[in-house]
Amino acid sequence: MKIIRTTAEMQAFSNAQREAQKHIAFVPTMGYFHDGHLELMRAGKRCADILVISIFVNPTQFSPNEDLQAYPRDFDRDCTLAQEVGVDVVFAPENDAMYPNGFQTFVAVEKLTQNLCGRYRPQHFRGVTTVCAKLFNIIKPHTVIFGKKDYQQLAAISRMLTDLNMDIELVGMPIVREANGLAMSSRNTYLNATERKSALALSHSLREARSFFLRGENNAQECIMLVRSIIDGYSHTAIDYIQICETKNFTDIATITQGSLLALAVKVGKTRLIDNYVFGEELNLP
Ligand code: AMP
Repeated sequence: MKIIRTTAEMQAFSNAQREAQKHIAFVPTMGYFHDGHLELMRAGKRCADILVISIFVNPTQFSPNEDLQAYPRDFDRDCTLAQEVGVDVVFAPENDAMYPNGFQTFVAVEKLTQNLCGRYRPQHFRGVTTVCAKLFNIIKPHTVIFGKKDYQQLAAISRMLTDLNMDIELVGMPIVREANGLAMSSRNTYLNATERKSALALSHSLREARSFFLRGENNAQECIMLVRSIIDGYSHTAIDYIQICETKNFTDIATITQGSLLALAVKVGKTRLIDNYVFGEELNLP
């Protein structure tokens, strides 16, 4: 497995692979791997000749009051796990390589990033789409793989690929959960033992929302009230948002139908967790 630190070397590597007719799959990450990340890599391995991943904690997607400095990092462990999955290249640039002096160009998907996490993290999606556009230009993948845990992010990337005519296939992978239902996240490492129990509020409430819909109920406000009451029943939880929306522009809806999205952001202690459920889909929960 190669570790590449510079954009020039990465571009040269990818150019050579493309000239040799190799199909490149790419999984962007901020590192501190869990099985959610590894599942994306396994999917990349299945569909491509060359699997490139990036590890880059992207400063432009963090607000000044967020956890950029504290974000968990363990490069050596990540490389061991990536190697076990069969990753060919880890692209791990320094900040200066990605954002040299004079950098001033941003990519923003304007509409669908207004609601949900975009309301609470105003510059977040602009940072995500900018870094992904840069990474796609550096790595030149044929296929990119993202997780549905960050559902709005996946939609923003999809929109960007379409709007900017980027000739890249996008694959969205299901949410990977721990045995108890907690959606895997690098940020789960912030949780202490008590908070870990409270973090089950999210998946518990999704399960009840699914049952609500399966009973034939479809009133979004009633479903949101149900979800709120479940989450409020757990200690150390503070709700950022519980919303039910359509998945084109992420506009709130009054009536739930198949394909509507229930999205949650909840602080457990100081840790902000997100989770979601698409009505009508399976929910792999205990
Ligand atoms: P991150 O390192 O948090 O930026 O995530 C990198 C990629 O992994 C993104 O496409 C995420 O959506 C995806 N991801 C993170 N957690 C999970 C999970 N529990 N299940 C599936 N994909 C995930």
